[in-house]
Amino acid sequence: MLRIGLTGGIGAGKSTVSATFSDLGGIIVDGDVIAREVVEPGTEGLAKLVEAFGDGILLPEGALNRPALAAVAFSDDEKRATLNGIVHPLVAHRRSELIAAAHEDAVIVEDIPLLVESQMAPMFPLVIVVNADPELRVKRLIEYRGFTEEDARARIAAQATEEQRRAVADVWLDNSGSPGAVVEQARTLWHERILPFAHNLKIEQPARRDAAVVPYDPTWPDQARRIVARLNTACGHRAVRIDHIGSTAVPGMDAKDVIDVQVTVKSLAVADELADALLTAGYPVVPGVTADTPHDDDPALWRKRFHASADPGRPTNVHIRVDGRPNQRFALMFVDWLRANPNVQADYLAAKRAALTAPDYVAAKEPWFLDAYHRAWKWADATDWRP
Ligand code: ADP
Repeated sequence: MLRIGLTGGIGAGKSTVSATFSDLGGIIVDGDVIAREVVEPGTEGLAKLVEAFGDGILLPEGALNRPALAAVAFSDDEKRATLNGIVHPLVAHRRSELIAAAHEDAVIVEDIPLLVESQMAPMFPLVIVVNADPELRVKRLIEYRGFTEEDARARIAAQATEEQRRAVADVWLDNSGSPGAVVEQARTLWHERILPFAHNLKIEQPARRDAAVVPYDPTWPDQARRIVARLNTACGHRAVRIDHIGSTAVPGMDAKDVIDVQVTVKSLAVADELADALLTAGYPVVPGVTADTPHDDDPALWRKRFHASADPGRPTNVHIRVDGRPNQRFALMFVDWLRANPNVQADYLAAKRAALTAPDYVAAKEPWFLDAYHRAWKWADATDWRP
């Protein structure tokens, strides 16, 4: 099962995108729809609202009178908290019921208008943001959804900024063109990224990746930040620390387009406890990889666990290493050493390019790494490096 978070500012065109995903077979879990469902006549939700706010919030035929509820519930912070305390748990419960009922290879699309504002992005293996320029959104809200200009502007101003949305977006869908154009983008995304991602998760297999070295991508650090946030949520207290490591963490250096992240844990037993949570987050374990090539005498100290992203759109390696072991320390130090020594970057790239033509890339890179290991530790000792 793949869970996707779909969001966008009001009027951006989120509904168009979620309707497209629904047509393609996605199961849409819509926060607004659920929020209405849980307070329909005859529900526990409506009974609790009446208990808290009185039957003045009901229409003559017994349904919820939304403006009347808004008038009392939004009059002060305490009443607002009471309302949220009633509605939010019911919405969360209904949401989990819908997800639990879905088939194991389903794609669940959670349509969450305030995903950014409520800091839910790291809970999803993939976050899709639909965007349009605020002026265009105002125009559409007036034209098609009956808003006054003042109301449209006030709603937009109260929401997250474009910059805040960009920071969490794994996929950015621009809806400044025709409705047909955004539908086409959504369909391509579905077929080329979402379905393969869901399939890989189901069979617990990482996505294939391209081995080529590409020019430095200045968005790598931002992409890594999203991955680290997601892994933090998945690992919770079991992670001692989580770091962006490897070549993509070295500003300006060309690299393979694969983000490497290290999750530091207390023991390999803890690493094994994380396997399910990492799979749910989009990173199945690679069972064949249980150690790094040792660069000093005790191979037992070089063991690790290794997961890799099932998302074909964002190749990612997740190395789980034990706090204080040589492989864990070297991964952190290696990045700092490269950052501090541009000549070593060039040297490393040359070794990497040569290894790419060899039959076994990892083995071919090894002699360079062994030598680099000793050079890097000399640098670390000389500069009094600390993780
Ligand atoms: P959201 O769900 O993100 O708040 P909607 O999907 O309701 O926004 O979009 C706002 C309005 O603009 C809707 O009436 C929708 O039909 C319309 N709309 C969406 N995309 C486009 C587009 N590309 N061109 C013109 N109108 C659009």
